[in-house]
Amino acid sequence: MGKIRELPVHVANQIAAGEVVERPASVVKELVENALDAGANSLEIRLHNGGKSLIEVRDNGEGIAMEDLELSILPHATSKIYDEEDLSSINSLGFRGEALASISAVSHLIITSRPEGQEQGWRVAVSFGRDRQFVPAGCPRGTTVQVRDLFLEVPARLKFLKARQTELSRCLKVIRAFAVCWPEVSFSVSNEKRQIFRGTPGRQGIERLTPLFGTEILESMCEISGQADGMSFEGFLASPEEVRLSSRHMYFFLNRRLITSPLIWKAVNEALRGRIVKGNFPAGVLFIDMEPELVDVNVHPSKSEVRFQRPELVYRMLYNGIKRPFSASVNLCEEPVSDSISNERVQSEIPFSTQGRTLKGDFVAEEAERAYESVANAKVQPPGLDNQGQVRIIGQFARSYILAEIGERLLVFDQHAAHEALLFKRLLNEIKDKGIVKKEPLVFPHLFTVNTSMMENLDKIREILAGLGLEVIVFGQRELAIKAIPVYLSGVSDAKYTAQEIVCQLLENPHRSGHEALRECISRMACSMAIKAKCALHKEQMASLVEDCLSEGVSSCPHGRPIMKQIDLGQMEREFFRQ
Ligand code: ADP
Ligand code: MG
Repeated sequence: MGKIRELPVHVANQIAAGEVVERPASVVKELVENALDAGANSLEIRLHNGGKSLIEVRDNGEGIAMEDLELSILPHATSKIYDEEDLSSINSLGFRGEALASISAVSHLIITSRPEGQEQGWRVAVSFGRDRQFVPAGCPRGTTVQVRDLFLEVPARLKFLKARQTELSRCLKVIRAFAVCWPEVSFSVSNEKRQIFRGTPGRQGIERLTPLFGTEILESMCEISGQADGMSFEGFLASPEEVRLSSRHMYFFLNRRLITSPLIWKAVNEALRGRIVKGNFPAGVLFIDMEPELVDVNVHPSKSEVRFQRPELVYRMLYNGIKRPFSASVNLCEEPVSDSISNERVQSEIPFSTQGRTLKGDFVAEEAERAYESVANAKVQPPGLDNQGQVRIIGQFARSYILAEIGERLLVFDQHAAHEALLFKRLLNEIKDKGIVKKEPLVFPHLFTVNTSMMENLDKIREILAGLGLEVIVFGQRELAIKAIPVYLSGVSDAKYTAQEIVCQLLENPHRSGHEALRECISRMACSMAIKAKCALHKEQMASLVEDCLSEGVSSCPHGRPIMKQIDLGQMEREFFRQ
């Protein structure tokens, strides 16, 4: 009897999926490509557990029509090419029609979509290639793709996934690269409901590179460009003398697609030969554009390798373009780059003061009073800080700590904890004074699913929700919609998710005392609003934060962590054996 057998379909599909989907970052890449191909200019990406438990990409693109939705998850089903001729001039990021099919074979996949003009949204769900469901679903225009539990039922692949942090940074790297290459699109990324990246649209010139490079290295970068028949490139390279990075900091984009290419590497290395110290690598970005006919992107399932029609021309264009400025001068970077990079700008726009907003009402005020007392009782004034004279800001350490001098003491503030503590105290104070938090309607209600027992608790928490400025309505059997959020959250990038988290916490524990719940909600709000670690601050911002903390007697964050440590001169001198 023969030995050859046809594999069961789902095993065959899982094998095929291996080519496209290797890890969470590859799923992120495919989903982002689809959103960009759909013309979206705003992408919200949610990850859990570094993408291993959840990857969700929500876009505002053209959506998928009902009749296409079920087809979209079939192998080799695509709307982007029709026949083999189209293969020779590809204008979209996707074209193989494999990504969704592959992902559906190795995860719980749910796609919800509504194109403009279609009254009703639809949802298709598949679990590891089985149990396909197709149901109507309320949703805004655009598409949301959710991928849960990647590889959970494929042990051979699951075991190759790395720790959460490693998978997360791979996902982020992919997204940052897209953000650099698609500067007109806004990207917002959260992991475990906390925003971890935001790429705001509209950056130009070297500022485009901000998501991938720190400001220091940007400052040393020089612009390069070149042209040849049917192709051109522009880019930025760090001055070779400045470069201290590993090879992972060189990015090549071809027709707005991140690619790898030995040929391009060769051109870069040759052009910089003799200028880069041994052991260092060049750092920078090249944006190459060429007529689609001049390049074959259908070389590898992940489309990251390409075949050039005229490799020698590509090589010469890059070699000459790179060599020229670097042989003229050590550092041709003409314009020093401003030190406020954009995702940091997002942070610094969050007001330090929350004064001047209207609040009214009773219930919440009373609860706030109680919550406030518990903070006030726990408060300890940092020893000996009053009457010590002027605070002098020394600077920032690791973009996370503020160093200041007062009298003969060195103070080190944890910027996030300090700001959070300050906001927490002020929010409580205001709610105590005026009662109810002013709310702000959301342009699109934010929908989320809860379990039945949470649903039943909704009525029990109505009062506290209203007090907090949260408007929540029942949207379906197990879906709620947040229609308005507290005005304080309106400038915060992951506001909807913070609001959702607060609502869910309340629904899960409706019997907690009012002030305990309020305290937790306000603490969650303060945490979202506060400036984050790893965020550059201006001197004035540091000064105002430090002064406010000292004058308002804030000393520990709502979670009980200290916000500040100090060393006095005597201690310092002892450390250095001067005493
Ligand atoms: P490909 O991108 O290669 O066409 P995919 O499997 O990634 O293949 O997607 C299949 C089809 O589903 C796409 O051709 C497109 O028509 C549709 N699609 C997928 N994601 C989206 C999205 N976010 N918005 C609109 N259409 C989408
Ligand atoms: Mg695709």
